[in-house]
Amino acid sequence: MSERQEPTEVTREQAEEAVRVLLRWSGEDPSREGLLDTPKRVVKAYKDWFSGYATDPGDYLRRTFEEVAGYDEMVVLRDIEFESHCEHHMAPIIGRVHVGYLPDGKVVGISKLARVVDTYARRFQVQEKMTAQIADCIHDVLQPCGVGVVVQATHECMTTRGVHKRGVSMTTSKMLGTFREDARTRAEFLQFIGAPGANVGR
Ligand SMILES: [Zn+2]
Repeated sequence: MSERQEPTEVTREQAEEAVRVLLRWSGEDPSREGLLDTPKRVVKAYKDWFSGYATDPGDYLRRTFEEVAGYDEMVVLRDIEFESHCEHHMAPIIGRVHVGYLPDGKVVGISKLARVVDTYARRFQVQEKMTAQIADCIHDVLQPCGVGVVVQATHECMTTRGVHKRGVSMTTSKMLGTFREDARTRAEFLQFIGAPGANVGR
């Protein structure tokens, strides 16, 4: 299963021209001095913000450790910070992800879970979709007994425009395997991440 996508046919020049069009659409003059290099900078920033398309997140989970001295309890990584962009407005989504899994003989380096989060975050996203993608990836590649993912984030398309509601955050969760089937496992995970109000059971 490859998450990799074909490179687009768009050239750097076309992308820079698109930025100039948006500047004109905003009421600006892209030829004024302060904006001359802006298209170049924006296109470069896009390479960074959307670098997740060039990576298969599952690759990070394929190197596992089996020498864990019989450790068979839950592994939880909480407060993984991420920045993403909503696919509806291309506006930032800023938040944190909590990931837990119950190993079935195999564990991964904890930084790898953060890499998986980053890879999905660095694409255009819908929070619900990103939550499910992270959980599904860990479930499919690592094949643990269960996985839980909780995402809490603010959406700038909501805080800086539209309804202008500051301080509102959204919580989504995806539970698979024992995290879904066993209320005690799920409760243990939610207790670890300190999120009693998490939207359980999806
Ligand atoms: Zn949006």
